[in-house]
Amino acid sequence: MARLRLRSFTGQVVFSDDGGQHKGLSSKSSAFRAAAGGGTRAAILRDPRVAPGQLIRVLQPVVANASGRATGVLEVYLPYDAIAAQVQTDMRRTVWTLAAGLACLYLLLALVSWYTTRSLRRHAAQREHQALHDGLTGLPNREWFRATAEKAVGQGSIGEPGALVLVDLDRFKEVNDTLGHHAGDQLLRLVGHRLTESLRTDDSVARLGGDEFGLVLPQATDQSSILALLTRVREELAAEIVLDSTSLSVEASFGVAFYPQDADNVEELLKCADAAMYQGKRGAAGIVFYDSADGPLPTHSLTVHRELKLALERDELVLHYQPKVDLANGAITGVEALVRWAHPQRGLLTPAEFLPAAEQSGLIEPLTAWVIRRALRDQARWAATGIPWTVAVNVSAHNLESAAFPDAVAALLAEMGISSDRLHLEVTETALALDAKIAAQAVAALAEQGIAIAIDDFGIGYTSLFQLRSLAVAEVKIDRVFVSGVEHNDHDRAIVRSIIDLGHSLGFLVTAEGVESRSVADWLTGAGCDHAQGYYFARPQPWPDLAQRDPTPRDAFQTLHPTHWAAPERSERSST
Ligand code: C2E
Ligand code: CA
Ligand code: CA
Repeated sequence: MARLRLRSFTGQVVFSDDGGQHKGLSSKSSAFRAAAGGGTRAAILRDPRVAPGQLIRVLQPVVANASGRATGVLEVYLPYDAIAAQVQTDMRRTVWTLAAGLACLYLLLALVSWYTTRSLRRHAAQREHQALHDGLTGLPNREWFRATAEKAVGQGSIGEPGALVLVDLDRFKEVNDTLGHHAGDQLLRLVGHRLTESLRTDDSVARLGGDEFGLVLPQATDQSSILALLTRVREELAAEIVLDSTSLSVEASFGVAFYPQDADNVEELLKCADAAMYQGKRGAAGIVFYDSADGPLPTHSLTVHRELKLALERDELVLHYQPKVDLANGAITGVEALVRWAHPQRGLLTPAEFLPAAEQSGLIEPLTAWVIRRALRDQARWAATGIPWTVAVNVSAHNLESAAFPDAVAALLAEMGISSDRLHLEVTETALALDAKIAAQAVAALAEQGIAIAIDDFGIGYTSLFQLRSLAVAEVKIDRVFVSGVEHNDHDRAIVRSIIDLGHSLGFLVTAEGVESRSVADWLTGAGCDHAQGYYFARPQPWPDLAQRDPTPRDAFQTLHPTHWAAPERSERSST
């Protein structure tokens, strides 16, 4: 303590520990009055007369015990410097502790955010890489190719010409089919590697899907240098590969389009390169440069074609079967295989949506081979359950044009171990008329093997009676435009009747297509038609569904009481 005084209410010093009469505190000051009124007041101040440095002054009323009344004000001074120093030290310590804590927190947050950003960035980069690269070969993919090609083609318009090349492996499907998908994958990886290694540093390679690769060659001015480059690439690709202890050599077809001279946008350039590549596939040349003199580019069919090629590899095609019913007894004698494409985006596509593209691009051959193989496999399956149906497959004009077709069919029958009388082939009348001589030879070669040939869509084409007489066919199928008219149209009735008679007199079986009602079926039966097909009996559908509906051939004349066939199921969308 520095000083102690007791004052009366008038402010007079009654007691002072130093005996002085110090006036300092006025009795009028608010602090004094408050203390005189019974409160306690404290203040920090400086008063060198009391003591050097800061002081705490406390004013407190003094109450006499005896009376319980206030008698004066006690004025106590305490030294404050030491306390102030302590408070400051404590405060500083608190501030430092806080600052250090905050700094630590900040550091921690910074670390966390750095780490998170880094993993996010890494993740994004990984995702971007995945989005732009092909998982199997590690090469850039179609999207990347398109973007890179667009950039390069853009440079082309400002004086840096180049070329886009499509590369397609020949007979890759055979490798997949005979050695398995694992070997196929290995082959694709190796091809990717060889392509990358054999090109120049500025060139790029991408896998566009399946066995198709795309190259962007930014410095390509003349055909001869690109021919030299691609010849080298092709040779390096052809070097021997051993897969599953089978040694083979990869052949590939290259289609080349130059920018800006062939086209100034990627879409058109790809069409050009594609057209060139397919020209190469058809002929013997491995590297073909697009030549506008070769005719107009196929448009929409190109996309269909590319996808359909993949669809064959990925097994996206399916067969639905429509029964052929014997009108004499209502029994199913056989079924016709009708191909559909279970397109991953567009749903179940009908033949009309993709067959024209297949026929234009040469894909019809592998497609028909696929259909025959699948139809024979299914035939074997229902035969194993005791169902005796034959199977009919539609073949296109292109198939008949190919000299190898009859042998290919024989090979498929042998491969599947199925007797040739189980397979029927249907050829449209229009196809027969295209190149009558070649078609007749093909039909003869197939019929010689014991395969029954039917003329499809009969009545709308131009088969001459002479041709009809010399063709080795077993069946004519009356086109549904006439069949649907027999109920109301005299002419249609006359046409159908005369086709039935003509067919019979030439020894053919006659089938009516497109029977949609009981009355048409009855009329046809009366007219002596042998077989019929149509929605009235059943829509095309997967064979197990058909087999469930008709496990046993009918022995009665069912068309007169066709309860069994009464309500055709809508197992697929109507193709009308
Ligand atoms: P198509 O050979 O004349 O086959 C009969 C077509 O008529 C089928 O159409 C069938 O669904 C439809 N149809 C059957 N019954 C009726 C009926 O009562 N009313 C009506 N309005 N239509 C009926 P789809 O399946 O669309 O096939 C169309 C054509 O595509 C076929 O005509 C055939 O020429 C061709 N096609 C189908 N599958 C193949 C195939 O695997 N290879 C080839 N090359 N062509 C095929
Ligand atoms: Ca047909
Ligand atoms: Ca037909």
